[in-house]
Amino acid sequence: MSGVNDIRSTFLNYFKSNGHEVVASSPLVPRNDPTLMFTNAGMVQFKNVFTGLEHRPYSTATTAQKCVRAGGKHNDLDNVGYTARHHTFFEMLGNFSFGDYFKENAIELAWNLITKEFGVDRERLCVTVYHTDDEAFNLWKKIAGLPDHKIIRIPTSDNFWAMGDTGPCGPCSEIFYDHGDHIWGGPPGSADEDGDRFIEIWNLVFMQYEQITKEERVDLPRPSIDTGMGLERIAALLQGKHDNYDIDLFRALIDASVDLTGVAAEGERRASHRVIADHLRSSAFLIADGVLPSNEGRGYVLRRIMRRAMRHAELLGAREPIIYKLLPVLVQQMGRAYPELVRAESLISETIKLEENRFRKTLERGLSLLSDATSNLSKGDSLDGETVFKLYDTYGFPLDLTQDALRARGIGVDISGFTDAMERQKAEARASWSGSGDKATETVWFEVKDKHGATEFLGYSAESAEGEVQ
Ligand code: ATP
Ligand code: MG
Ligand code: MG
Ligand code: MG
Repeated sequence: MSGVNDIRSTFLNYFKSNGHEVVASSPLVPRNDPTLMFTNAGMVQFKNVFTGLEHRPYSTATTAQKCVRAGGKHNDLDNVGYTARHHTFFEMLGNFSFGDYFKENAIELAWNLITKEFGVDRERLCVTVYHTDDEAFNLWKKIAGLPDHKIIRIPTSDNFWAMGDTGPCGPCSEIFYDHGDHIWGGPPGSADEDGDRFIEIWNLVFMQYEQITKEERVDLPRPSIDTGMGLERIAALLQGKHDNYDIDLFRALIDASVDLTGVAAEGERRASHRVIADHLRSSAFLIADGVLPSNEGRGYVLRRIMRRAMRHAELLGAREPIIYKLLPVLVQQMGRAYPELVRAESLISETIKLEENRFRKTLERGLSLLSDATSNLSKGDSLDGETVFKLYDTYGFPLDLTQDALRARGIGVDISGFTDAMERQKAEARASWSGSGDKATETVWFEVKDKHGATEFLGYSAESAEGEVQ
């Protein structure tokens, strides 16, 4: 069985031996890109290379890129613990061509790696193409010998990638693995495609156009390639598992969490162990890259992730900080590939422990308020916005923590009531200020706060990505 660390090296070595430069992962906080919450794909560090603004001494590259998809346009936070394939932190393996090779080579390289190097059963693979992309359809037929019904034409934006409203864009092709009919889910494009039977493992983007204005799109003189494959997903497949959380790396973390809490990872507690293992990874890597828990922006996303993990630890019966105790296992699993984890280990440990201690004080009281307030509610009901706001304001419960806590019971949250309560509090604060002090300074203060308040709020609601490119 190949471990995650071997699979990562096999990928990078394969592309290296095919002439690609092996480039290190960029940090999770994107440099020079305030529009992006966290690095969420391999191409992020190459954006300017694709647009031609920046030149590198190589025209093809390969990376294993640290990614976080929590907050921002790609937000998988709510999926974690509930699907077999989503993490908040994951590694994206990729190969890139900057005006070098294009569609045919990209498909050939991907197909050979999966079926020859990795030896995946080709009968279980199917692919999607953008509905008008006959070229890709024919190449899959020619190179992989796939029958027509396994090359699925998709008309939606899932199969058309764009960097932003303008700039490079093009059709894409996703490679799926069929884990078998004992698992619920349909093929891509079908009504039940969100199930976990057919799992997307690799996404190939063919950047062949440039969007000039909303109406005008031209061919790029030198088209490019951007691909991304989830390391944990390919590892699951190669280790004979269906579920990402059953791979070696997650087993080590979940076993440690089971040992620490004495609660088996079964039944309704299974999700809690998964959430803790996943959130520990994203928290540790974010802290190693310089993010600290706070009440706004990136720091607030980190705080939300940490507190959410802590509620799950509480569900497992933990009455003292335990998440930081799992860190050595993570460092052991991933420290060789990511030395920044080793370097920052004590900072990460202290930061998590401090947050665990800080939140513990209000977590229990908040949870008992939550349980009182929802004792009369049943499936399909919503918790009133005032209570959700009180949990947020007095007990430090991020909105999504409350939502997550009620999810298993099928109870929703009155989000607009919550927003109203928040607005009302702001207005009251404003009113109590008027007349006191310097009017001009005051106006400026609230203008700034409103602006940032808006970003801050979107930052921790589910649809946080408005105005965010990519
Ligand atoms: P899905 O449809 O399963 O959510 P996606 O289409 O959003 O995946 P891409 O943006 O195409 O994902 O990212 C490229 C690859 O990265 C995916 O094919 C998948 O293997 C992996 N990946 C994406 N999101 C996650 C995640 N949250 N956790 C683990 N791996 C992921
Ligand atoms: Mg997705
Ligand atoms: Mg997809
Ligand atoms: Mg995709």
